[in-house]
Amino acid sequence: MTMLLDVRGLRAFYGSTQALFGIDLTVAAGGITTIIGANGAGKTTTLRAICGTIRTMGEVFLSGVQIDRRATEDRIRQGIGHVPDGRGTFTDLTVEENLRLGAWIRRDAAGIARDLDRVFGYFPRLRERRGQMAGTLSGGEQQMLAISRALMSGPRLLLLDEPSFGLAPLVVAEIFEIMRRINEVEGIALLLVEQNAALALELADTAVLIESGRVVLSGSAALLRNDDSVRRAYLGN
Ligand code: ATP
Repeated sequence: MTMLLDVRGLRAFYGSTQALFGIDLTVAAGGITTIIGANGAGKTTTLRAICGTIRTMGEVFLSGVQIDRRATEDRIRQGIGHVPDGRGTFTDLTVEENLRLGAWIRRDAAGIARDLDRVFGYFPRLRERRGQMAGTLSGGEQQMLAISRALMSGPRLLLLDEPSFGLAPLVVAEIFEIMRRINEVEGIALLLVEQNAALALELADTAVLIESGRVVLSGSAALLRNDDSVRRAYLGN
């Protein structure tokens, strides 16, 4: 079966410093894969490498098409949406302006209007606040905006970098529930980086554990959930 995303031997560099040493991972069409690991393990770097915002070696295939030499803009056109760490929303623009920027690669005004409505359907609070400056939103609302903005490019695959970061448990639960619905209803695949390994392994069907820029364990989410070393180090049980 051709995977939606197939990453092989991915290495990444910050200047002359190597951060990834040959990452292999896959995301099935409509599937959910999570990357777990400690601080500094290389999770964020893996997502950047897949988007092409840092220097890499190795292969990245999207639906069988090799994209690792392509510009980031082209990868977005091919169907990759990135929700970066720190959310990356434009604080001095309104909610709606941020969302319209998310659709910058598109020219179909009717489709953009439809998707704006669809995104507001998932996040009614953003609809209510469409004219509000993004910088004045709560942390949870900003995360919702970051996810929504990535959806506006019409992705087949969403890369999510720690959507739970800094949010209260109830808000985290709400965002995870919406991610689950987006995956289920839209069939959009997710590659989810998370510190909250327990929640991530509950949502995902496949998982990889990264340590020091290398995959040390991969398989079904259930396999990682039941692995003794994962339980001790990442699940605290
Ligand atoms: P965290 O959960 O803390 O964000 P992470 O698993 O996402 O951790 P990365 O941010 O991918 O880890 O970092 C992997 C390695 O790359 C670390 O050693 C980090 O110091 C280094 N690194 C990350 N960003 C940069 C950068 N912009 N310049 C230089 N080195 C970097």
